[in-house]
Amino acid sequence: MVIVGDDPASRIYVNSKKKACAELGIYSEEHALPVSTTEEELLKLVEELNNKSDISGILVQLPLPEHINEENIILAIDPKKDVDAFHPVNVGKIMVGNYDFVPCTPAGVMELIAESGVDIAGKECVVVGRSNIVGKPQAMLLLHKNGTVTVCHSKTKDLKEKTKKADILVAAVGVPEMITGDMIKEGAVVIDVGMNRLADKKLVGDVHFESAEKVVSAITPVPGGVGPMTIAMLMKNTVKAAVINRTGLK
Ligand code: NDP
Repeated sequence: MVIVGDDPASRIYVNSKKKACAELGIYSEEHALPVSTTEEELLKLVEELNNKSDISGILVQLPLPEHINEENIILAIDPKKDVDAFHPVNVGKIMVGNYDFVPCTPAGVMELIAESGVDIAGKECVVVGRSNIVGKPQAMLLLHKNGTVTVCHSKTKDLKEKTKKADILVAAVGVPEMITGDMIKEGAVVIDVGMNRLADKKLVGDVHFESAEKVVSAITPVPGGVGPMTIAMLMKNTVKAAVINRTGLK
């Protein structure tokens, strides 16, 4: 795990990932670099980790300080060690449907849906948000499971008309409690990816839980829903990376 600077949220995420590794007996090391670190220095560290045989997975915690080009860093990570699945090689593999690693948050969402016994095939799936980290890969994964997928974003006209059609609704927007009960179809399955810290420090999702839970057949809470699943999927990718890097098998 590589962390640059002292962003408090990034520190919490890295600590949770370190804790999960320790609980599972996965060797981990943290490279905490000062905010003044240059892009060249970070690239050099990534290259060292690429070449270390006892490291199977490399995670560079985002966001990086503004003077570092995130894309250059992601491109530098060996795709076989890219446990976040952000490298374009892994992104492309997800598009094609023949992938080694799936980005952790969308993978966690899929696992939650599968564990709940919900069959995605033929369902109207609506993803609100189109980020490279969540929305886009989420849409692809739902499509691979034969959902009929609509992706919404900030320019979508009449969002409510779209969300109201969803049998499965994934909210990954970053706007506190913006999806309210009246925007949700009766009996829908709602996955709330959002993690928003309010002024009073309360953590809330993108879905207004109280109004939504009256309408849905299933809904994930915030905190405690997708967040822990993201870390679990990171661990899964790391174990997979260890197998791939050591044996060449998948
Ligand atoms: P981004 O900010 O990268 O993307 C947000 C997306 O939401 C964009 O596509 C944006 O549209 C869209 N959007 C913004 N406002 C609206 C609106 N009013 N109506 C419709 N769409 C809108 O966020 P992320 O994808 O990185 O994260 C989304 C949320 O998920 C955040 O709350 C984040 O904290 C949380 N998160 C949680 C994780 C977990 O482990 N639980 C992991 C990662 C993220 P446009 O593209 O047009 O700008």
